Amino acid sequence: MSQKFTRREFNKLVVAGAAGSTLGIFGGVRPALASEKHVVVIGGGFGGASAAKYIKKLSPSIAVTLVEPATTFYTCPFSNWVLGGLKEMKDIGHTYDTLKNTWGVEIVHDEAVDVDAAAKTVKLKTGNELTYDRLIVSPGIDFKFDTIEGYSEEVANTAMPHAYKAGPQTELLAKQLQDMKDGDNVIICPPGNPFRCPPGPYERTSLIANYLKKNKPNSKVIVLDSKEKFSKQGLFTKGWERLYGDIIEWRPASKGGKVVSVDAATMTVNTDAGPVKGGVINVIPPQQAGKIAFAAGLTNETGWCPINPITFESTIHPGIHVIGDSCIAGAMPKSGFAASSQGKVTAAGIVRLMHGDVPAPPSLVNTCYSLVGPGYGISVAAVYKLTSDGIVKIKGAGGLTPMDADDDQLSEEATYARGWYNNIAQDIWG
Ligand SMILES: Cc1cc2nc3c(=O)[nH]c(=O)nc-3n(C[C@H](O)[C@H](O)[C@H](O)COP(=O)(O)OP(=O)(O)OC[C@H]3O[C@@H](n4cnc5c(N)ncnc54)[C@H](O)[C@@H]3O)c2cc1C
Repeated sequence: MSQKFTRREFNKLVVAGAAGSTLGIFGGVRPALASEKHVVVIGGGFGGASAAKYIKKLSPSIAVTLVEPATTFYTCPFSNWVLGGLKEMKDIGHTYDTLKNTWGVEIVHDEAVDVDAAAKTVKLKTGNELTYDRLIVSPGIDFKFDTIEGYSEEVANTAMPHAYKAGPQTELLAKQLQDMKDGDNVIICPPGNPFRCPPGPYERTSLIANYLKKNKPNSKVIVLDSKEKFSKQGLFTKGWERLYGDIIEWRPASKGGKVVSVDAATMTVNTDAGPVKGGVINVIPPQQAGKIAFAAGLTNETGWCPINPITFESTIHPGIHVIGDSCIAGAMPKSGFAASSQGKVTAAGIVRLMHGDVPAPPSLVNTCYSLVGPGYGISVAAVYKLTSDGIVKIKGAGGLTPMDADDDQLSEEATYARGWYNNIAQDIWG
């Protein structure tokens, strides 16, 4: 029997049921294991923290150790809202207290520096070593700084922040926007595909434009894009025309958008069509899997990690599961919701394996909201299944905000965006 939902009904269901539906799929807590098993999770972001919690929820007798350097995790979702002055850093920070105290996850604030897949050990920066029965790796992304001449980690930390990992980088870019002279321009340089959060640079463009409109009315946002098109382009462009007029100028790669090099000393971005100067320059470099995925030998020639899509187990090293932005997950985008969905599926798979069961083919979900203005939201949602082509979108499930959505609907989407954030953050970090 199949049940059809409209896109709006579907979005409501996802927002309302993000946590509960997963439990329904998993079917409750399992009995204790004969001998204690140990899962180590590297990375306490969207993928890793979800996996850690859901393993404990499904099978409390499995010992779970989460390795994460930060004591407070700042989410990239809503970090654009911080840049636009709509949220503060404290609104996007989450600790590991609930994972530890309510779910019994052991939290180790350290950095994993190496993995020995044969010996099943993880080496930590402090010199300590952890042994595991199964390992989950969810380190997010790393930047390929050297692909843009003149750009480097040092330039990112001083003059031209990427703000594509939330935290000090978000604060630096927010401060630069506040300090910028009215009349100077903000330049945003999004990377080519694939990269984390495909709509992220364009939500950022929108919310910075909103900030400029109110606070620096003589300034503009110029987007120098390495691509010809981008996620939710029609919806963003319509919103930009309605809300911001000529405050936003988007240049595709073929029309002067392709970044060749940058010069931090003169605050210039050089494109193949000539130099562009900015008061604030946000360079989002090309990306690859997190560093530890390379150290562990989990990446292939693409710079990302191939996995078995049923359990997210590495096809290179058995016993290690890679989830979130670092893995190659077919049609799924690199998003927080996707990473969390993969974390839950991986938790269910590992629990089944440890209890001697066969993991079931998963159903995976992604929902992504973007704010074009404070009361103007848009979204994309999709459900995924496994076929012989890997993880593919199920046709007709989910969809995009309609192009002809009226003001009430766009305002509702902005409300759902807040609900989405509260739900997923509560589900993962409590
Ligand atoms: C501006 C912006 C806006 C976004 N908005 C949305 C949105 O609205 N919705 C959405 O779904 N997604 C959004 N995303 C995408 C989302 O943030 C990522 O897809 C998501 O964080 C990926 O989860 P992850 O677990 O792979 O990595 P992360 O969440 O980044 O977690 C990785 C963690 O691993 C830790 N780590 C890394 N290396 C090690 C190591 N060696 N040892 C120990 N720990 C390590 C890091 O400290 C980090 O805490 C946005 C991204 C950006 C940049």
